[in-house]
Amino acid sequence: MFRLTPKEQSDLTNLLVQLVRTRSRSGKEEQLAQLLVSELNKAGIADVRVDRMGNVVARIGAGRRPMLLFNGHMDTVDVTDRAAWQHDPWMGEVANGNLYGLGSSDMKASLAAMVFGAKKLIESGARLNGELVLAFVVQEEPCEGMAMQVLVEQEGIRPDMVILGEPTHMQICRGQRGRVEMRVDTRGRSGHAARPDSGENAIYAAMRLIFGVELLSGNLANDRFLGPGSLIVTQIQSSAPSRNAVPDRCWFYLDRRLTLGENETRAMAEIQSVIMREGVPATVEITEFDGVSYTGYPFRKREVFPPWALPAEHPLVQAAVATLRQVTEKRPEVTRWDFSTDGVYTMGQAQIPTIGFGPGRDDLAHTPDEHVRLADVHLAAEIYAQLAADLLGTDGRQGIVSGSTT
Ligand SMILES: [Zn+2]
Repeated sequence: MFRLTPKEQSDLTNLLVQLVRTRSRSGKEEQLAQLLVSELNKAGIADVRVDRMGNVVARIGAGRRPMLLFNGHMDTVDVTDRAAWQHDPWMGEVANGNLYGLGSSDMKASLAAMVFGAKKLIESGARLNGELVLAFVVQEEPCEGMAMQVLVEQEGIRPDMVILGEPTHMQICRGQRGRVEMRVDTRGRSGHAARPDSGENAIYAAMRLIFGVELLSGNLANDRFLGPGSLIVTQIQSSAPSRNAVPDRCWFYLDRRLTLGENETRAMAEIQSVIMREGVPATVEITEFDGVSYTGYPFRKREVFPPWALPAEHPLVQAAVATLRQVTEKRPEVTRWDFSTDGVYTMGQAQIPTIGFGPGRDDLAHTPDEHVRLADVHLAAEIYAQLAADLLGTDGRQGIVSGSTT
């Protein structure tokens, strides 16, 4: 078993403080990437590089199969309401055994713990029966799965198993709902506001559709593990020649969470049937994310993110449960995330067995005074080291996937 010494625990805490102090809003991850490259080198990993998109990729035992990949995103969301924070979001203050700061739970704690997990593994001298990759990616917050897609399809990093370090509160997650973003446009005809009948009001048309959307949202498919799908209107805009004219255009956006069994086609068809029923001139389409990474790598992605769940009896889930049980002497809960992760690509699209384990708390992500319990971060480092050893196997001992399968 891998145990951190008190000195290593305080070094890990210091690394997390540094990570929180290094701001890394989505699209601005360069400084954090540089810091992580040097920390990974310090941990004893020789093969560390930054790929075309700006993701940090560290490889231990490159070329050996199977490949286990630890995933963490480097980016954070923005602080929108600084006054709501009691603690400075960028200081990494420690109080009552917690470390406070933007991205502490989501998910710099995991990045730091993964670095120390790898360090312990290397120092132990154990030879892994396969390759361990640490992939610290960019722009997960606005467009989850995109960086992993580049890593797998452009960079040729093809893992057999993935562990996402998104916050799980030290439990194991094995799935999440997916999502689709849609835009609905209604068309009217402009006329003078003094004579409403001279035009057709595009906002009124949109209102009827929105009412239909609200009714629909209570009648979506349900899945026993992932829960029901959901649907809400998130933004609305309109245009008119002036504020004393009948609006000729209105458009609004829909956030549709997909549970197992639901997909893009179904989500679109439901909205189309609302449009048909209301009999208003309108169109619906899937939105596109259009971004550039800090290295200048441009990417576009239709905003369709499939739901996924790895079966509870899958060997990866079972093995991870056994590892956590061994290290913590407690049986972890096997649950799901409410939010979306890079698993939409690794499992949802590429069908690579994926689970999540991380020290943060998902309910603290994206909230003021986000924090993480330091004892959990220290323990997580030991668990990451043990997971790599157990899943891949070391020296004579077999892991859960043999080298020949891929
Ligand atoms: Zn996250």
